Amino acid sequence: MSAGRYAPSPTGTLHLGNLRTALVAWLAARASGRAFWLRIEDLDRVRSGAEAEQLADLRTIGLTWDAAPVRQSERTALYDDALAALRAAHGPDAVYECFCSRRDIAEASSAPQAGTPVDGGSGTLLRPPGFYPGTCRGLTEAERAERRRARPAALRVDAAQVAGLPAGRVPTASAHDLLHGEVTGLVDDLVLRRNDGAYAYNLAVVVDDLAQGVDQVVRGDDLLDSSPRQRWLAQALCAARGQAAPPVEHLHVPLVLGPDGRRLAKRDGAVTLADLAAQDPRWTPERVRDRLLESLGLPAGPLEGAVAAFDPAALPREPWVFPGRL
Ligand code: GLU
Repeated sequence: MSAGRYAPSPTGTLHLGNLRTALVAWLAARASGRAFWLRIEDLDRVRSGAEAEQLADLRTIGLTWDAAPVRQSERTALYDDALAALRAAHGPDAVYECFCSRRDIAEASSAPQAGTPVDGGSGTLLRPPGFYPGTCRGLTEAERAERRRARPAALRVDAAQVAGLPAGRVPTASAHDLLHGEVTGLVDDLVLRRNDGAYAYNLAVVVDDLAQGVDQVVRGDDLLDSSPRQRWLAQALCAARGQAAPPVEHLHVPLVLGPDGRRLAKRDGAVTLADLAAQDPRWTPERVRDRLLESLGLPAGPLEGAVAAFDPAALPREPWVFPGRL
């Protein structure tokens, strides 16, 4: 089944920026006749009570979903299977142990000799955040055993090996975004499991979107540069299982900024439903919903009107600056 989704991390109360992205995800799914799922991305930094609060706030602005929300913390077996599939298809070293700290990576990537040949691609290539230069790729078993004594290992995918390229080459990948067009990026040896044993965001999101039949990914545009490598990983996982990766429509929604022009955050004062209502009783949930719809160039009022008017290509391409008042 064709589906869209909203995938909040239960780290705190949803603010207007999160609610606005959730609203776009819901509208995009409903306007295109897709099912809509909620997925709780709770592999990391969970705040107790946040999940229930987030679901209540999403309901309050009128959103509905078509099945009980799933939690990533309950889906570890699927992530185990994905690692096993990559190893079965490409050999045990296709997923390798990495002992680097963030600092090691920052130092190695900024070293002048760290330049790595890039496979193909022209024009601007997005370099993913925390680009990994491959330091631990190709360690011997003895070196690994030595390093394991000092620090637990994270697991990374050997992107060149999985892509069938010579060692050390960096694949590129592209994703299609309804607002940003074709987005191309380098694919480094991304982390699949962190060194605290938790599965990494990039792996979990790709495995879940595939498993849940998600073919429409709507989220904040701070994640735009993750989409080429997530697309690459989805294709690699499908290929490892002898399947073709289904096409996916991306829609990266511009963020909401506070009055100071920085990304909206708690420091901007009343930015959640509860804070706004406490600040001014005229901020009813309907009023907040209408303000968000207007910011998207959509008609205020019950959501059916916005579904009928929804055109992803007509969404604003600039961030919305929330003025902080009615
Ligand atoms: N859990 C991520 C967030 O809250 C979203 C991930 C995604 O939509 O792919 O920012």
